[in-house]
Amino acid sequence: MTSDLYPVNRLAAVREATAAAGLDALLLTPGPDLRYVTGYEALPLERLTCLVVPAAGDAFLMVPRLELAAAEHSPASRLGIEFVPWDETDDPYAHVAKRLGQVATVGLADRMWAMASLRFRDALPAAGQVLAGRVLRGLRIRKSAAEVAALREAGAAIDAVHAQVPDLLRAGRTEREVGRDIADAIIAAGHRTVDFVIVGSGPNGASPHHELSERVIQPGDPVVVDIGGQMPSGYCSDSTRVYSVGEPPPAFAAYYEVLRRAQEAACAAVRPGVTCESVDAAAREVITEAGYGERFIHRTGHGIGLETHEEPYIVAGNTEPLAPGFAFSVEPGIYFPGDHGARIEDIVICTEDGGRRVNDRPRELIVV
Ligand code: ZN
Ligand code: ZN
Ligand code: ZN
Repeated sequence: MTSDLYPVNRLAAVREATAAAGLDALLLTPGPDLRYVTGYEALPLERLTCLVVPAAGDAFLMVPRLELAAAEHSPASRLGIEFVPWDETDDPYAHVAKRLGQVATVGLADRMWAMASLRFRDALPAAGQVLAGRVLRGLRIRKSAAEVAALREAGAAIDAVHAQVPDLLRAGRTEREVGRDIADAIIAAGHRTVDFVIVGSGPNGASPHHELSERVIQPGDPVVVDIGGQMPSGYCSDSTRVYSVGEPPPAFAAYYEVLRRAQEAACAAVRPGVTCESVDAAAREVITEAGYGERFIHRTGHGIGLETHEEPYIVAGNTEPLAPGFAFSVEPGIYFPGDHGARIEDIVICTEDGGRRVNDRPRELIVV
Protein backbone atom coordinates (compact mmCIF):
# COMPACT_ATOMS: atom_id res chain seq x y z
CA MET A 1 0.00 0.00 0.00
CA THR A 2 1.18 3.49 -0.86
CA SER A 3 0.74 4.72 2.71
CA ASP A 4 3.14 2.06 4.02
CA LEU A 5 5.62 2.27 1.19
CA TYR A 6 5.68 6.07 1.02
CA PRO A 7 4.65 7.14 4.54
CA VAL A 8 3.55 10.74 4.94
CA ASN A 9 5.83 11.28 7.94
CA ARG A 10 8.89 10.68 5.75
CA LEU A 11 8.88 14.32 4.69
CA ALA A 12 9.36 15.42 8.31
CA ALA A 13 12.25 12.98 8.69
CA VAL A 14 13.83 14.37 5.52
CA ARG A 15 13.45 17.94 6.77
CA GLU A 16 15.16 17.01 10.04
CA ALA A 17 17.97 15.23 8.22
CA THR A 18 18.39 18.28 5.97
CA ALA A 19 18.83 20.53 9.00
CA ALA A 20 21.12 18.02 10.71
CA ALA A 21 23.33 17.93 7.61
CA GLY A 22 23.65 21.71 7.71
CA LEU A 23 21.82 22.28 4.44
CA ASP A 24 19.27 25.06 3.99
CA ALA A 25 17.04 23.19 1.55
CA LEU A 26 16.69 20.17 -0.67
CA LEU A 27 15.64 20.63 -4.29
CA LEU A 28 14.21 17.39 -5.63
CA THR A 29 13.36 17.12 -9.31
CA PRO A 30 11.69 14.01 -10.80
CA GLY A 31 13.55 10.77 -10.12
CA PRO A 32 14.10 8.30 -7.31
CA ASP A 33 14.79 10.93 -4.62
CA LEU A 34 11.51 12.73 -5.30
CA ARG A 35 9.64 9.45 -5.46
CA TYR A 36 11.19 8.28 -2.18
CA VAL A 37 10.06 11.39 -0.33
CA THR A 38 6.60 11.81 -1.90
CA GLY A 39 5.61 8.64 -3.77
CA TYR A 40 5.12 10.88 -6.82
CA GLU A 41 6.45 9.35 -10.02
CA ALA A 42 6.74 12.65 -11.86
CA LEU A 43 7.83 12.79 -15.47
CA PRO A 44 11.32 14.13 -16.06
CA LEU A 45 10.67 17.03 -18.44
CA GLU A 46 12.38 20.23 -19.50
CA ARG A 47 9.68 22.11 -17.53
CA LEU A 48 10.62 22.24 -13.85
CA THR A 49 8.86 20.06 -11.32
CA CYS A 50 10.64 20.40 -7.98
CA LEU A 51 9.91 19.54 -4.39
CA VAL A 52 11.52 22.22 -2.25
CA VAL A 53 12.22 21.10 1.32
CA PRO A 54 13.57 23.97 3.41
CA ALA A 55 15.36 22.93 6.62
CA ALA A 56 13.18 25.49 8.38
CA GLY A 57 9.81 26.24 6.86
CA ASP A 58 7.18 24.49 4.82
CA ALA A 59 7.93 22.29 1.87
CA PHE A 60 6.22 23.05 -1.43
CA LEU A 61 6.04 21.52 -4.88
CA MET A 62 6.78 23.72 -7.90
CA VAL A 63 4.83 22.19 -10.73
CA PRO A 64 4.10 23.25 -14.33
CA ARG A 65 0.42 24.18 -14.53
CA LEU A 66 -0.21 21.47 -17.13
CA GLU A 67 1.18 18.87 -14.68
CA LEU A 68 -0.89 20.12 -11.75
CA ALA A 69 -3.72 17.60 -12.17
CA ALA A 70 -1.25 14.72 -12.36
CA ALA A 71 0.49 15.94 -9.21
CA GLU A 72 -2.81 16.33 -7.41
CA HIS A 73 -3.75 12.76 -8.28
CA SER A 74 -0.37 11.45 -7.14
CA PRO A 75 0.58 10.26 -3.64
CA ALA A 76 2.20 13.68 -3.10
CA SER A 77 -1.31 15.04 -2.50
CA ARG A 78 -1.39 13.17 0.84
CA LEU A 79 1.47 15.25 2.23
CA GLY A 80 -0.55 18.39 2.87
CA ILE A 81 2.02 20.60 1.16
CA GLU A 82 1.37 23.57 -1.08
CA PHE A 83 1.46 22.94 -4.82
CA VAL A 84 2.75 26.01 -6.66
CA PRO A 85 1.74 25.89 -10.33
CA TRP A 86 3.74 27.99 -12.75
CA ASP A 87 2.72 29.23 -16.16
CA GLU A 88 4.60 28.98 -19.43
CA THR A 89 5.89 32.56 -19.22
CA ASP A 90 7.01 32.31 -15.57
CA ASP A 91 10.54 31.60 -14.39
CA PRO A 92 10.09 28.77 -11.87
CA TYR A 93 13.75 28.89 -10.82
CA ALA A 94 13.49 32.54 -9.87
CA HIS A 95 10.30 31.74 -8.03
CA VAL A 96 12.01 29.05 -5.93
CA ALA A 97 14.91 31.42 -5.23
CA LYS A 98 12.53 34.16 -4.11
CA ARG A 99 10.69 31.86 -1.75
CA LEU A 100 13.88 30.46 -0.27
CA GLY A 101 15.47 33.85 0.35
CA GLN A 102 19.06 33.77 1.62
CA VAL A 103 20.46 30.25 1.53
CA ALA A 104 24.09 29.15 1.86
CA THR A 105 23.83 25.51 0.72
CA VAL A 106 21.23 23.54 -1.18
CA GLY A 107 21.09 19.79 -1.82
CA LEU A 108 20.19 18.79 -5.37
CA ALA A 109 18.57 15.45 -6.25
CA ASP A 110 21.42 13.15 -7.26
CA ARG A 111 19.85 12.59 -10.66
CA MET A 112 18.81 16.19 -11.34
CA TRP A 113 19.49 17.11 -14.96
CA ALA A 114 22.43 19.47 -15.49
CA MET A 115 20.06 21.91 -17.24
CA ALA A 116 18.14 22.31 -13.97
CA SER A 117 21.17 22.37 -11.66
CA LEU A 118 22.79 25.12 -13.75
CA ARG A 119 19.55 27.11 -13.78
CA PHE A 120 19.46 26.83 -9.99
CA ARG A 121 23.08 28.00 -9.87
CA ASP A 122 22.08 31.13 -11.79
CA ALA A 123 18.96 31.70 -9.69
CA LEU A 124 20.78 31.16 -6.38
CA PRO A 125 24.30 32.42 -7.15
CA ALA A 126 25.34 32.63 -3.49
CA ALA A 127 24.26 29.07 -2.66
CA GLY A 128 26.68 26.17 -2.69
CA GLN A 129 25.30 23.05 -4.33
CA VAL A 130 25.82 19.58 -2.90
CA LEU A 131 24.13 16.26 -3.59
CA ALA A 132 20.88 15.59 -1.76
CA GLY A 133 22.24 12.07 -1.37
CA ARG A 134 24.24 13.44 1.53
CA VAL A 135 20.90 13.75 3.35
CA LEU A 136 18.87 10.98 1.76
CA ARG A 137 21.37 8.14 1.56
CA GLY A 138 21.14 7.36 5.28
CA LEU A 139 17.37 7.05 4.96
CA ARG A 140 17.21 5.27 1.61
CA ILE A 141 19.87 2.70 2.50
CA ARG A 142 17.81 1.22 5.33
CA LYS A 143 14.71 -0.29 3.82
CA SER A 144 11.51 -0.22 5.87
CA ALA A 145 9.40 -3.34 6.32
CA ALA A 146 7.17 -2.13 3.47
CA GLU A 147 10.16 -1.57 1.20
CA VAL A 148 11.49 -5.04 2.01
CA ALA A 149 8.07 -6.44 1.14
CA ALA A 150 8.17 -4.55 -2.17
CA LEU A 151 11.62 -5.97 -2.94
CA ARG A 152 10.35 -9.45 -2.08
CA GLU A 153 7.44 -8.97 -4.46
CA ALA A 154 9.89 -7.87 -7.17
CA GLY A 155 12.09 -10.88 -6.40
CA ALA A 156 9.20 -13.30 -6.71
CA ALA A 157 8.21 -11.70 -10.03
CA ILE A 158 11.67 -12.08 -11.57
CA ASP A 159 11.94 -15.63 -10.20
CA ALA A 160 8.74 -16.41 -12.08
CA VAL A 161 10.46 -15.21 -15.26
CA HIS A 162 13.58 -17.31 -14.63
CA ALA A 163 11.28 -20.30 -14.16
CA GLN A 164 10.21 -19.87 -17.81
CA VAL A 165 13.68 -19.41 -19.28
CA PRO A 166 14.38 -23.16 -19.79
CA ASP A 167 11.40 -23.26 -22.15
CA LEU A 168 12.69 -20.28 -24.15
CA LEU A 169 16.34 -21.26 -24.58
CA ARG A 170 17.04 -23.57 -27.50
CA ALA A 171 19.90 -24.11 -29.88
CA GLY A 172 19.03 -22.34 -33.14
CA ARG A 173 17.29 -19.32 -31.58
CA THR A 174 19.07 -15.97 -31.44
CA GLU A 175 19.77 -14.14 -28.20
CA ARG A 176 17.45 -11.40 -29.42
CA GLU A 177 14.55 -13.79 -29.99
CA VAL A 178 14.98 -15.25 -26.52
CA GLY A 179 15.40 -11.77 -25.06
CA ARG A 180 12.16 -10.57 -26.61
CA ASP A 181 10.25 -13.44 -25.01
CA ILE A 182 11.92 -12.76 -21.66
CA ALA A 183 10.99 -9.08 -21.87
CA ASP A 184 7.35 -10.04 -22.46
CA ALA A 185 7.52 -12.42 -19.50
CA ILE A 186 8.97 -9.69 -17.26
CA ILE A 187 5.91 -7.52 -17.94
CA ALA A 188 3.52 -10.46 -17.67
CA ALA A 189 5.01 -11.27 -14.25
CA GLY A 190 3.84 -7.89 -12.95
CA HIS A 191 6.67 -5.47 -13.67
CA ARG A 192 5.80 -2.03 -14.99
CA THR A 193 9.00 -1.70 -17.02
CA VAL A 194 11.76 -3.92 -18.36
CA ASP A 195 15.04 -2.39 -17.20
CA PHE A 196 17.47 -4.80 -18.84
CA VAL A 197 17.61 -8.20 -20.48
CA ILE A 198 21.03 -9.81 -20.78
CA VAL A 199 21.23 -13.06 -22.70
CA GLY A 200 24.93 -13.81 -23.03
CA SER A 201 25.40 -17.05 -24.93
CA GLY A 202 28.76 -18.78 -25.35
CA PRO A 203 31.54 -16.18 -25.64
CA ASN A 204 29.05 -13.34 -25.01
CA GLY A 205 28.65 -14.64 -21.46
CA ALA A 206 32.18 -13.39 -20.79
CA SER A 207 31.05 -9.74 -21.17
CA PRO A 208 29.18 -8.86 -17.96
CA HIS A 209 26.98 -6.16 -19.52
CA HIS A 210 26.46 -7.74 -22.92
CA GLU A 211 22.77 -7.35 -23.68
CA LEU A 212 21.37 -9.05 -26.76
CA SER A 213 22.78 -9.87 -30.16
CA GLU A 214 21.87 -11.76 -33.31
CA ARG A 215 24.13 -14.62 -32.23
CA VAL A 216 22.49 -18.00 -32.75
CA ILE A 217 22.62 -20.14 -29.63
CA GLN A 218 24.69 -23.29 -30.18
CA PRO A 219 24.51 -26.75 -28.59
CA GLY A 220 26.83 -26.81 -25.55
CA ASP A 221 26.57 -23.03 -24.96
CA PRO A 222 26.46 -21.79 -21.39
CA VAL A 223 24.06 -18.82 -21.35
CA VAL A 224 24.14 -16.04 -18.74
CA VAL A 225 20.65 -14.58 -18.21
CA ASP A 226 20.65 -11.40 -16.09
CA ILE A 227 17.26 -9.68 -16.00
CA GLY A 228 15.35 -7.05 -14.09
CA GLY A 229 12.58 -4.51 -14.13
CA GLN A 230 10.69 -2.01 -12.03
CA MET A 231 7.46 -2.96 -10.29
CA PRO A 232 4.46 -0.59 -10.06
CA SER A 233 5.59 0.00 -6.45
CA GLY A 234 8.75 1.64 -7.83
CA TYR A 235 11.00 -1.12 -6.47
CA CYS A 236 13.32 -3.09 -8.75
CA SER A 237 14.25 -6.68 -9.45
CA ASP A 238 17.61 -8.02 -10.62
CA SER A 239 18.62 -11.68 -10.79
CA THR A 240 21.08 -13.77 -12.78
CA ARG A 241 21.09 -17.47 -13.50
CA VAL A 242 23.22 -19.51 -15.86
CA TYR A 243 21.74 -22.08 -18.19
CA SER A 244 23.47 -24.56 -20.42
CA VAL A 245 22.00 -25.67 -23.72
CA GLY A 246 23.05 -29.31 -23.50
CA GLU A 247 26.20 -30.39 -21.71
CA PRO A 248 28.65 -27.49 -21.20
CA PRO A 249 32.42 -27.69 -21.83
CA PRO A 250 34.22 -29.42 -18.91
CA ALA A 251 36.33 -26.31 -18.16
CA PHE A 252 33.12 -24.34 -17.69
CA ALA A 253 31.55 -26.91 -15.39
CA ALA A 254 34.70 -26.83 -13.21
CA TYR A 255 34.63 -23.09 -12.52
CA TYR A 256 30.84 -22.88 -12.33
CA GLU A 257 30.92 -24.96 -9.16
CA VAL A 258 33.58 -22.61 -7.69
CA LEU A 259 31.35 -19.66 -8.53
CA ARG A 260 28.37 -21.27 -6.87
CA ARG A 261 30.33 -21.82 -3.66
CA ALA A 262 31.62 -18.22 -3.78
CA GLN A 263 28.12 -16.80 -4.14
CA GLU A 264 26.93 -19.00 -1.28
CA ALA A 265 29.85 -17.88 0.93
CA ALA A 266 29.13 -14.20 0.31
CA CYS A 267 25.42 -14.63 1.09
CA ALA A 268 26.33 -16.51 4.28
CA ALA A 269 28.66 -13.68 5.34
CA VAL A 270 25.80 -11.16 5.49
CA ARG A 271 24.82 -9.97 8.96
CA PRO A 272 24.66 -6.65 10.81
CA GLY A 273 28.07 -5.17 11.61
CA VAL A 274 29.90 -6.98 8.82
CA THR A 275 31.44 -4.51 6.40
CA CYS A 276 30.44 -4.27 2.75
CA GLU A 277 34.00 -5.05 1.70
CA SER A 278 34.10 -8.25 3.74
CA VAL A 279 31.07 -9.59 1.86
CA ASP A 280 33.02 -8.91 -1.33
CA ALA A 281 36.06 -10.64 0.18
CA ALA A 282 34.00 -13.70 1.14
CA ALA A 283 33.15 -14.32 -2.52
CA ARG A 284 36.57 -13.32 -3.82
CA GLU A 285 38.47 -15.63 -1.48
CA VAL A 286 36.73 -18.73 -2.77
CA ILE A 287 37.33 -17.72 -6.38
CA THR A 288 40.96 -16.70 -5.78
CA GLU A 289 41.81 -19.88 -3.87
CA ALA A 290 40.53 -21.91 -6.82
CA GLY A 291 42.86 -19.97 -9.14
CA TYR A 292 40.27 -17.80 -10.91
CA GLY A 293 40.97 -14.57 -9.00
CA GLU A 294 41.76 -12.39 -12.02
CA ARG A 295 38.68 -13.69 -13.85
CA PHE A 296 36.40 -11.99 -11.29
CA ILE A 297 36.64 -8.51 -12.76
CA HIS A 298 33.91 -6.58 -10.94
CA ARG A 299 32.62 -5.82 -7.45
CA THR A 300 30.40 -8.38 -5.76
CA GLY A 301 27.26 -6.27 -5.68
CA HIS A 302 25.22 -3.09 -5.52
CA GLY A 303 22.37 -1.82 -3.42
CA ILE A 304 18.87 -1.94 -4.90
CA GLY A 305 15.58 -0.24 -4.16
CA LEU A 306 13.95 2.51 -6.22
CA GLU A 307 17.06 2.26 -8.39
CA THR A 308 18.66 -0.94 -9.67
CA HIS A 309 22.09 0.38 -8.67
CA GLU A 310 22.25 2.44 -5.47
CA GLU A 311 24.05 2.37 -2.12
CA PRO A 312 25.52 0.28 -0.59
CA TYR A 313 28.15 -0.98 -3.02
CA ILE A 314 29.66 -4.34 -2.07
CA VAL A 315 33.22 -3.58 -3.03
CA ALA A 316 36.76 -3.60 -1.60
CA GLY A 317 37.39 -0.32 0.21
CA ASN A 318 33.81 0.12 1.40
CA THR A 319 34.18 -0.22 5.17
CA GLU A 320 30.57 0.67 5.93
CA PRO A 321 29.03 -1.93 8.24
CA LEU A 322 25.83 -3.61 7.11
CA ALA A 323 22.71 -2.87 9.12
CA PRO A 324 19.23 -4.39 9.14
CA GLY A 325 17.29 -3.19 6.12
CA PHE A 326 20.26 -2.93 3.76
CA ALA A 327 19.32 -4.53 0.43
CA PHE A 328 21.90 -5.41 -2.22
CA SER A 329 22.91 -7.90 -4.87
CA VAL A 330 25.45 -10.67 -4.38
CA GLU A 331 26.66 -11.43 -7.89
CA PRO A 332 30.17 -12.77 -8.27
CA GLY A 333 31.24 -13.74 -11.80
CA ILE A 334 34.00 -15.61 -13.59
CA TYR A 335 34.76 -14.68 -17.20
CA PHE A 336 36.91 -16.21 -19.93
CA PRO A 337 36.85 -13.76 -22.87
CA GLY A 338 36.44 -15.55 -26.16
CA ASP A 339 35.03 -18.69 -24.51
CA HIS A 340 32.28 -18.24 -21.92
CA GLY A 341 31.50 -16.80 -18.52
CA ALA A 342 29.16 -17.11 -15.56
CA ARG A 343 27.54 -14.99 -12.88
CA ILE A 344 25.04 -15.91 -10.16
CA GLU A 345 23.00 -13.11 -8.64
CA ASP A 346 20.51 -12.86 -5.82
CA ILE A 347 19.17 -9.84 -3.98
CA VAL A 348 19.89 -10.18 -0.26
CA ILE A 349 18.31 -8.29 2.64
CA CYS A 350 20.35 -7.85 5.81
CA THR A 351 18.17 -8.74 8.80
CA GLU A 352 18.93 -8.85 12.54
CA ASP A 353 20.00 -12.45 12.20
CA GLY A 354 21.67 -12.65 8.82
CA GLY A 355 20.98 -12.34 5.13
CA ARG A 356 17.64 -13.30 3.56
CA ARG A 357 17.50 -13.70 -0.19
CA VAL A 358 14.49 -12.48 -2.12
CA ASN A 359 15.33 -14.83 -5.00
CA ASP A 360 15.16 -18.58 -4.63
CA ARG A 361 15.46 -20.17 -8.06
CA PRO A 362 17.97 -23.07 -8.11
CA ARG A 363 21.58 -21.88 -8.32
CA GLU A 364 23.01 -25.04 -9.84
CA LEU A 365 23.78 -24.92 -13.53
CA ILE A 366 20.46 -25.49 -15.26
CA VAL A 367 20.92 -27.76 -18.26
CA VAL A 368 18.12 -27.30 -20.78
ZN1 ZN B 1 25.47 -4.81 -13.54
ZN1 ZN C 1 21.87 -8.29 -12.64
ZN1 ZN D 1 22.89 -6.59 -10.28
